Amino acid sequence: MDAEILSVGTELLLGEISDTNAQYISSRLRDIGVNVYRRLTVGDNPKRLTSAFQESIERADIVLSTGGLGPTDDDVTAQCLATALGRGLVFSEEAWGSIESSLRRRNRVPSPSDRKQAYIIDGGFFIPNAVGTAPGQGVVIDSKLAILLPGPPFEMKPMFEDHVITLIRQKYHDLEPIKYLNLNIVGLPEAKVAEAVSDLMKSDNPSVAPYTGIGQVRLRIAARGRDENEQTAMIANMEKEVRKRLGRYIYGTNDETLEEVIGRMLSRRGLTLAVAESVTGGLVSYRVTEVPGSSKYFKMGMIAYDPGVKASNLGIPFEFINENQAVNEEVAKGMAQSIRLLAGADLGLSTTGFAGPDGGTESEPVGTVYIGLDHKQGNLVERILYPSTRSRTRSYAAQQALRVLYRFLVGLAE
Ligand code: AMP
Ligand code: MG
Repeated sequence: MDAEILSVGTELLLGEISDTNAQYISSRLRDIGVNVYRRLTVGDNPKRLTSAFQESIERADIVLSTGGLGPTDDDVTAQCLATALGRGLVFSEEAWGSIESSLRRRNRVPSPSDRKQAYIIDGGFFIPNAVGTAPGQGVVIDSKLAILLPGPPFEMKPMFEDHVITLIRQKYHDLEPIKYLNLNIVGLPEAKVAEAVSDLMKSDNPSVAPYTGIGQVRLRIAARGRDENEQTAMIANMEKEVRKRLGRYIYGTNDETLEEVIGRMLSRRGLTLAVAESVTGGLVSYRVTEVPGSSKYFKMGMIAYDPGVKASNLGIPFEFINENQAVNEEVAKGMAQSIRLLAGADLGLSTTGFAGPDGGTESEPVGTVYIGLDHKQGNLVERILYPSTRSRTRSYAAQQALRVLYRFLVGLAE
């Protein structure tokens, strides 16, 4: 079964907004076993939209559009699909009833232009919108299905979840949904991850594919099929094989974040953390405190940006910074130790580096970051080099600081 997604709206073509609807629908169709072969974006132009519908309906089993269902004159999607099918639009009492009650809930008196939204394609059906006023609609054309949904994502998504998925499943019985598992990896670049599983990546079902983020890789295992238990078993077998090879780099699965995993490890062991940041400007502390319950283990964060502040608050000798710059091993070490003692924490974590675009030295160019970790029995420092845009270098540095902490905590358990 294959589908095409038609995103309607001139604002999309002008680059004013991102087409998040198409991305959402693509990923949900993938989950339920519908292949998306094409996505199109068309402005609010009746001629081009009508021909886009004609072409998509010709090619695909399912055509799904979003946008252009509102009450104004530039909302022409329903009319265009009707024209493409050679049908008319008819007033639907059922749709009107639903629009009226939704307007009343918002204390609005229905206006004549609102009635426009109650016209649906002859022979079609309406899809209620529990959140907004513009209803969706659909029409069955023999073995094919066309669905029109409104543009605002917060209206489109519940309609898709509550109605469209059921419609598709009722009409097409031989779908092969995809089940998947993401294994989240830190501390190993994508090329090395791919190398370690290159033979597994040749497998078709379940498939194995890496996706790179900043300082982390996701390995996605996906199994297609109609028998959920069988899919689960296929994924579990593949996971076992992957873990045999990459286990020590896998920190979590699916949406689990590094900071969540670290939080659990700290809580379980009753350890506390303090962070002194220079180059990451608070990103590490931000991520650690994004996790609910982090007050149990996060004692304090300090953004010590200025050398004078590093000296007066963290005891890094001012002369040392003057002579050696603030980006070096000793400063990272000193910052981690001082913040740990200052906060009375078990662990101190620090970052100092050059994010650019200016600055850096010959030996420590832009992109150099030192990460320090101090604990009761000693300390460690890692130097990383990631020259990129300022924003990416900083995100990468924060990710690596968390990775250093994570590895240390894993090591405690070993
Ligand atoms: P419409 O249903 O065409 O009146 O769209 C109303 C609003 O929904 C637009 O102004 C956008 O903010 C939003 N919208 C429309 N299409 C999309 C899309 N493909 N992705 C994300 N938002 C959209
Ligand atoms: Mg629009």
